Amino acid sequence: MPRDARLKLNYSNLLSKDIAIDLGTANTLIWVKGRGIMINEPSIVARMVNSDKIVAVGIEAQDMLGKTHHNLETIRPLKDGVIADFQMADEMIQGFVRKMHLSRIARPRMVICIPSGVTPVEQRAVRESAERANAREVHLIEEPVAAAIGIGLDIAKPVGNMIVDIGGGTTEIAIIALNGVVAMEAIRVAGDEMDAAIVDWFHNEHKMEVGYRTAERIKCSVGAGISAGNSRILVKGRDLVSGIPKTISVSADEIRKALSDTLFQIISAMKRALERTPPELSSDILDRGIVLTGGGSMLKGLDEIFREETNLPVHVAEEPLTSVVMGTGMALENIKTYAAVLF
Ligand code: ADP
Ligand code: MG
Repeated sequence: MPRDARLKLNYSNLLSKDIAIDLGTANTLIWVKGRGIMINEPSIVARMVNSDKIVAVGIEAQDMLGKTHHNLETIRPLKDGVIADFQMADEMIQGFVRKMHLSRIARPRMVICIPSGVTPVEQRAVRESAERANAREVHLIEEPVAAAIGIGLDIAKPVGNMIVDIGGGTTEIAIIALNGVVAMEAIRVAGDEMDAAIVDWFHNEHKMEVGYRTAERIKCSVGAGISAGNSRILVKGRDLVSGIPKTISVSADEIRKALSDTLFQIISAMKRALERTPPELSSDILDRGIVLTGGGSMLKGLDEIFREETNLPVHVAEEPLTSVVMGTGMALENIKTYAAVLF
């Protein structure tokens, strides 16, 4: 290649900054063409209560979680899958885009992945927010569709694929074929609910208060494995009666019990989606199975429980935390091919 042609290529690469955003309830990921994943941070904003001033976005805001004083609050703008706080969601998007220090000369094309329960009003808010972040063109894509693309499923074929994306605030279940969603079910029960179930368990069974981050750590280390056996873990918390900190030892089996109701709700939603699936596609799913993705799919033993409950093959995606942003990026790179799933 002649030297100036190479220079020209690099230059045009710099200018065509295509950006894919996975606006998750727990984590926001941003992929930039030619650079890969540049942001992978919790979807959290910290602001001063009296002045509304934003003091931190992402990792720095997470570090403040549970340690704030009366004049500082941490907000998760998408906590329950929908955009609970428009202004904060906007601040978060602006904050993350600023963190990437992209040149403002070239205005990027953006594809943003949103939870599928998001209303038209919320969609408009996301679009406007992207425009304020300097986008010249904005497309939206639904989470399970982006996940399917990211996992590498060929969703254009006349074959049914079932995706279960268990995030922080929502579980989104979709049966996809011919570039479209045939049946879907979104519930506001996912990783956060599992944490809350563990907090409640200690409150009710051990008269002990544990924080949500402790509960999340327990969930991630113990999981819901049927075969977890009798292994025990030490848990620190505060005695509800005396108010004094204490440490107790609990069995892995207890954690499985604590999570059982939450898992039951996810399984019920999966069954509802399967009931609404036309028989031809059901038979594809019987052969190909269900693909799990999202951080919640990393719960130890989850695939085993789902297999038992549905009698279907269950696979966990290779990269559950990044499949959505990668799929969003792939849709952006092949915008014509995926026109049917972008809006
Ligand atoms: P979202 O797309 O809603 O932002 P993610 O796909 O990023 O959510 O998943 C976040 C959820 O995954 C959190 O609830 C987190 O606790 C959970 N999670 C992450 N790792 C694990 C693990 N090893 N076991 C169980 N849950 C996990
Ligand atoms: Mg997600």
